[in-house]
Amino acid sequence: MEEFSARQLREKIAAGEVSSVEATKLVFERISKYEPVVGAYISVFEEQALAKAAEVDKRIAAGEQVGELAGVPVAVKDNMCTMFGATTCGSKILEDFRAPYNATAVEKLLAADAVIVGKTNLDEFAMGSSTENSALKRTVNPWDTSRVPGGSSGGSTASVAAGMCFAALGSDTGGSIRQPASFCGVVGLKPTYGRVSRYGLVAYGSSLDQIGPVTRTVEDAALLMNVIAGHDPADSTSVDEKTAPVCDYLDKLDEPVGGLKIGIVPELNSGADEQVQKALNDALDVYKGLGAELVEIEMPHFDYAIAAYYMIATAEASSNLARYDGVHYGHRTKRAKDYVEVYTKSRAEGFGKEVKRRIMLGTYALSSGYYDAYYLKALKVRNLIRGDFTKAFEKCGCVMMPVSPTTAFKIGEKVDDPLTMYLSDVYTIAANLAGVPAVSIPCGFDSDNLPIGLQILSSVFEEEKLLRIAYMYEKETNWNKREPRIDTN
Ligand code: GLN
Repeated sequence: MEEFSARQLREKIAAGEVSSVEATKLVFERISKYEPVVGAYISVFEEQALAKAAEVDKRIAAGEQVGELAGVPVAVKDNMCTMFGATTCGSKILEDFRAPYNATAVEKLLAADAVIVGKTNLDEFAMGSSTENSALKRTVNPWDTSRVPGGSSGGSTASVAAGMCFAALGSDTGGSIRQPASFCGVVGLKPTYGRVSRYGLVAYGSSLDQIGPVTRTVEDAALLMNVIAGHDPADSTSVDEKTAPVCDYLDKLDEPVGGLKIGIVPELNSGADEQVQKALNDALDVYKGLGAELVEIEMPHFDYAIAAYYMIATAEASSNLARYDGVHYGHRTKRAKDYVEVYTKSRAEGFGKEVKRRIMLGTYALSSGYYDAYYLKALKVRNLIRGDFTKAFEKCGCVMMPVSPTTAFKIGEKVDDPLTMYLSDVYTIAANLAGVPAVSIPCGFDSDNLPIGLQILSSVFEEEKLLRIAYMYEKETNWNKREPRIDTN
């Protein structure tokens, strides 16, 4: 059963061929075997999951209608609010925080009858590229336990890769779904900004954050999008159905995109490691074999994406994180002598190093003397990058590039060097700045047997086409069929 995709499992459960209780038990067996090594979960809910699974099985046996994810064990990144368990964001400041409501995406999973098995580890407040910034736990890469799973959704991607759930949700502000998906050899989709409700997603960079699926197959990504996409009155930045109708992402998945023109930016791609470049070129050859045409495009402002992102994201974060003050939420210091110290000491004790670095950077960028020079300039660059994409999509139906310049790096290799860590986002950040959707799909392995991802980007609200393009490749290849051999010793 562990080899099933979420969709296959859903069909077999709905047909009564396997039970959700069996699937859920299998997942918890795997969790007890692999979790001590992999460390993907901050919390698991075995009892609650088995109860939900039994309820779904009972309803199926009674011939009742069940949801699109009926009985499928899924995981949720621990920066999405749930009324069950804690919502920690991988931070000490929220270690015991109990949310009074469910995030809309979580509500939708539950309404689709998914079985939520646990909440996954992440870089504190989703700030990072390796999950090493979690204050609560260390997650390793199932393909090589001496390496990072990527980040910040490293818990979600490691959990899917290790078969400790059948699908998961992640969040992506600058690459946090796609980069760990590529490091762990799974599929990760960042939808168009506004496609999925952010209500109940703990805000990092509000104008960049998006929730998206982490799955084993492109088909499962489409299935999850069917469940989570759509307008939400509780999130004013979610897009209404009139502006951009949600489609059935599974419906035409099998129809290849005819006359596909793939945009490539040769000088960008040459910045990646040789083996990553080779995997990309091989993937492009597969597409050419399927009738696609390559067109060279220009992204003249791409080089400034990282600088602009680290201004905008940190500025927004500094404002978003102001609410953790020892009064409204979370950790409160026991060492305060007066009320000012309640604020300062609670924050000093509760936040980790990277979060503090970003709050300082963001506050600086927003301060009156520097606002124009840094923040405003970054917003202008953001507009130029958006323009690059608009121009590009006049010439091509999608753009392909690496997800990350390297495969998974060693634990500890970059923690003391934030700038090098930030550079691992070069290929992913532009999509968030422009708001366009982008997916990472497995496209090979390097000589150390570490997964490599292919990134495909398309124009806003074109997830349906994007998934069809990804599916064309997945059907021709079988990279996603390989499984990591996890060393439990
Ligand atoms: N690695 C990037 C950062 O550290 C992106 C994180 C994310 O997408 N949440 O900000």
